[in-house]
Formats: sequence, C-alpha cells, structure tokens
Amino acid sequence: MPLTPVLSARWGAERPWSIETYRDLDGYKALPKAFKATPDELIELVKNSSLRGRGGAGFPTGMKWSFVPQGDSGPGAKPKYLVINADEGEPGTCRDLPLMMNDPHALIEGCIIASYAIRSHFCAIYIRGEAIHAIRRVRNAVAEAYEAGFLGKDILGSGFDLDIVVHAGAGAYICGEETALLESLEGRRGQPRLKPPFPAVAGLYASPTVVNNVGTIASVPSIVLGGADWYKELGPEKSPGTSIYSLSGRVKRPGQYEAPMGTTLRELLEMAGGIREGHELKFWTPGGSSTPSFTAAEIDVPLDFDSVAAAGSLNGTSAVMIFDDSDCNVRATMKWIEFYAHESCGKCTPCREGNFWLVQIYERLENGEATAAEVDQILDICDSIGGRSFCALADGAVACAQSSIKNFRDEYLLHLEYGGCPFHETGEQPEL
Ligand code: NAD
Repeated sequence: MPLTPVLSARWGAERPWSIETYRDLDGYKALPKAFKATPDELIELVKNSSLRGRGGAGFPTGMKWSFVPQGDSGPGAKPKYLVINADEGEPGTCRDLPLMMNDPHALIEGCIIASYAIRSHFCAIYIRGEAIHAIRRVRNAVAEAYEAGFLGKDILGSGFDLDIVVHAGAGAYICGEETALLESLEGRRGQPRLKPPFPAVAGLYASPTVVNNVGTIASVPSIVLGGADWYKELGPEKSPGTSIYSLSGRVKRPGQYEAPMGTTLRELLEMAGGIREGHELKFWTPGGSSTPSFTAAEIDVPLDFDSVAAAGSLNGTSAVMIFDDSDCNVRATMKWIEFYAHESCGKCTPCREGNFWLVQIYERLENGEATAAEVDQILDICDSIGGRSFCALADGAVACAQSSIKNFRDEYLLHLEYGGCPFHETGEQPEL
C-alpha cells in the first residue's frame, strides 16, 4: 500500500476519485481488516497511533471516540452519530476540498471504520455550500460505495449497517464550528452551543456524536492497514503522521504539500520554489488567519501542534499564508478582521460588537484618520473579546490583531505618521 504520502498518495492517479482506481490502489482493504477487530480494539488502535484532529485544534482522535458512551442503558442506549466537518472555511485553508475531490473514497472508508468503532449507524458529511463540485463528487462516491456493498445493510457480511448522507451547508464560516454545524444540520440557524457538554456526550439531536474533520477520518484507513507504530513514525512523537500544508501568497509554487508533521517553513519553501524573486519573507500564518502570525524569525519552527504552541502560536489548519516585504501587515490584518466581523453569527455581544469596532479602527488607520490612542484601543477591545464568547471565532480575530501589533507596531505608527497606508501599489517597502 502507498505509505507516504498518506493523504495525497492517490491524487496523481488517473480518475483517482473513482471506486475502481481506489480499489486498485489498496482502497477498501482496511475495511475487512477493521471488521475483524472489535470496536474497542479499533478505538485503542487509533489512540495508540496518537492521531490528532486535523480540523485545527489537534484533539486526540482516539480519545474523542472513547468519550462516546456505550451500552444498552443510560446515555449509551441513545443512537450515536458520526458527523464529518467538511465546512472548511478558515482563510488560507485548502486541503479538505482537494482531498474530497481527489480521494473521496478514502473519506468514505474512514467514515465506515470510525462509525463501526463508535457503534454509529448514521453518518453525515457536512460540506461547504459553495463547494458544489465537492458535494457532487462525494455524493457520487457515496452512491458508488452503496452500489459496491460498502454502505447500507450488513456491510461485507459483517452484520454492521451504515448510512451516509451528504449535507450541503449554506456558506457560513460559523457552521465550521462544530456545534453551529450540528444546529445547522438539525435545520436551525447555525449558531454555536455552549460547551460542555461536548458533542461526544450530547451532539446531534442531543445524542453522542463524534465530529471529525475530513483529513482526520481519511487518515484512518491507512492507520488500520499500516498500524499504529508505522503512523507514529511519520512525525514527531506527540503530533505524528503527515499534514497537508496549504501554501498560498507570495510563494513561487503555491499549492498543497503533504509532509510529515513538524516540517518547517524553510523546508516547505524549498518544496514550493521559495519566495517570489527579489523579495523577502516578512510574515506568515502557521495555520490560518486565526493563529497568531509569525515573522521570518520563526522560519525554523517545526510545524506540529506542540512546537508551534511552544513558539507562541497554534498549528491550526496548516494553512501557511505567506507575505513578503511588499505587503502591509496592517492591511492584511484589516482584511482578516473584516472577515471575522462579517462572519460573526452575532450571538455573543463581545464578538458581534468587538469585531465591528475593530473594523472601524482599522478603516481609520487605512484612511489616515486614526490616532495613536486607537492602536492601544485595538488591544483593549481584543481583551474584551478574547475568551468571552461561545466559540473560537472571536479568539481568531483577537489572535491576528494582537500578533500584528506585537510584531509590527512600527507599521501602525507609520500609518499615523503617513496619514494612511504607506505601501505603494507597486509593492515598495517603505522606510520603517
Ligand atoms: P476545541 O479545542 O474546543 O475542540 C476541539 C475538539 O475536541 C472538538 O471536537 C471538541 O468537541 C473536542 N473536545 C475538546 N475538549 C473536549 C472534552 N473535554 N471532551 C470531549 N470532547 C472535547 O476547538 P474548536 O473550537 O472545536 O476548534 C478550534 C479550532 O478550529 C482552531 O484551532 C482553528 O484552527 C480551527 N478552525 C478550523 C477551520 C477550518 O476551516 N478547518 C475554521 C475555523 C477554525
């Protein structure tokens, strides 16, 4: 079986999305192996592999599965659900979509194994509404899997039944937040619920629900085939496996690069041809706009959950957005804050109002109307937003504004002095 890369191994094959290609390339071989194990043994295997959630938070997957109560009475008697969060929306993040487009059966096989492990007979794949191509692709693959007997009743004679439904979202970033996603799936407005209880205990229709990201679940068939020890050797001990790093921005060859967790930006830049000619790296996000951005000084930080946290940011979605010396950090931050303000669901006042006011100040900076006091006011507003709402959306806004001022306060002051953004359309780096 193709061991490395793990998630993108089949992407270069002819019609990799078809069930024929998938089966030719070791697809649906993990499933009979999984059915030979008990659900508890599978949970143990995933725990031993130390697989961590690829949605951004890096929560241990096997542990999450083990939280689902089992048994014939009490909470364990309720139906259990598996929900796949394919509402990828974090700025800069583009790895679940190519994964679903190129290898939808890896996701489906992972869904069957995960559902069997948590004893769920219903799985919903919630895909971003704008990604109509991915919705069609996964729906077709689900139909192929039913046709081949991998879904439905008594799969492969195991006695296990599973139905998968592909659900189209409606294009709201907030629905990528797992509890808002569950609300949306239940037919209500997508707004986050207070956690705890976590979905593993009370999720879809108040029943125990595992919500996992596409990349997390698509890794499961390889772990079943290759074993926990093989998977653990692919990356650092506490963040093993591979990640699909989405490189975008001022890089010669932007795209998706699968590499072991713990790969550094320096190494990723080598794969992607480096920063565009004549320019230098200025700042970058290790895992999407919600993660505090780094400067060129952090180019050698291993991009895995623990190392990035130790360096003061978050690994997040491995969405590496790269900016060079022609880019204005204040303007990039303003664009992100505008995004958060637009996407705030409005349920929590600090997020709804705080992001609105941050946008006002950033616009004043951009237009040359801001005062020095307003730069500190940004930090005060961040203090009033961070950790004060139901979900992590506002924390993302806070992270990007705070890291921007920490690393580039000089650039804010230059905006005051210059009376607006001093960066030229031609991309000249002004004198700081
Ligand atoms: P979180 O840390 O609250 O939870 C992560 C996961 O672990 C969730 O599934 C949660 O239910 C589970 N969990 C945590 N503690 C638990 C407990 N005690 N018991 C049972 N389950 C528990 O993080 P979050 O708010 O779900 O997600 C934040 C992350 O989302 C950020 O790191 C960000 O990078 C990422 N993000 C991703 C996208 C995307 O497009 N993929 C978009 C926005 C944000």
